[in-house]
Amino acid sequence: MSNDGHSQATAGCPLSGPYAGLRAVLATMHGKEAAIVPAFQEQLELTVEIPSAIDTDTLGTFTGEIARAGTIREAAIAKARLGMAATGLSIGIASEGSYGPHPHVPFIPGGVELMVLLDDERGIVVSEHLIDDAPVYEHAIAAEIGDLGAFLDHIRFPDHAVIVRPNEPDDRGALIHKGLRTAEALESALATSAPRSRDRRALVQTDMRAHMNPTRMASIARLARALCDRLATLCPACSAPGYGQIDVETGLPCAWCGAPSIMVRQQIFGCAACEFHEGRPRSDGRTHADPGHCPECNP
Ligand SMILES: [Zn+2]
Ligand SMILES: [Zn+2]
Repeated sequence: MSNDGHSQATAGCPLSGPYAGLRAVLATMHGKEAAIVPAFQEQLELTVEIPSAIDTDTLGTFTGEIARAGTIREAAIAKARLGMAATGLSIGIASEGSYGPHPHVPFIPGGVELMVLLDDERGIVVSEHLIDDAPVYEHAIAAEIGDLGAFLDHIRFPDHAVIVRPNEPDDRGALIHKGLRTAEALESALATSAPRSRDRRALVQTDMRAHMNPTRMASIARLARALCDRLATLCPACSAPGYGQIDVETGLPCAWCGAPSIMVRQQIFGCAACEFHEGRPRSDGRTHADPGHCPECNP
């Protein structure tokens, strides 16, 4: 064991895990390496390199100038492939986020962050995701900065940057100001955007690029740790890395009548390389559902 203070974080013998001593490429443009690289180096002893010459924005952007194709998993895989092609490395990492209405709760903003590791030596793709219940993801419509006081406090401006554009753009073409982090820059963006909108107002949105949104960056750091935990877990059948939960099965029996409810009955764990999978009881130990979730008792 080394005495440099990192040995506790690596939990186990140095250079023994499935990725110890190997090299990977992280395809990113927005400073995400600060949130992602330490987890891979400390938990897996995987050396992560950042390519200098790839433009991941060609795959689609958060600000909507280029539409993203496919699912976020497909987008993350395509991004990782770009990095692998640029460096010739056989292991690639990328992350992708998507923000919109909360997936389970209407009218509440939510986000999904997904991270993949592609391993062409083993022929596997391992992914992990998280749902961000409290993202800093908001918008407001304003003619001048005086209209935005409560909004700017709420999004914790200027730690979180904003994007400004005409609310209802006129015919003079696209106009967008990104990465605004000072009151002066915001005022001047409003002054050029509002007059170019049919309603004379500007649309002000949180800039969701990771380096502009520290709340999102923290979520990405948590996700990197979770993906590394999964990668350190080997399949009980074939020993491939990346064993973990892949699905859930609903049907937890109702506490009153025993009928299958819509609540999760068990977690399904599976392998990224082989067909092996197993059901495990809920991690919270619950064995029966509240009758409120039962289609028989509460139709
Ligand atoms: Zn019931
Ligand atoms: Zn397996």
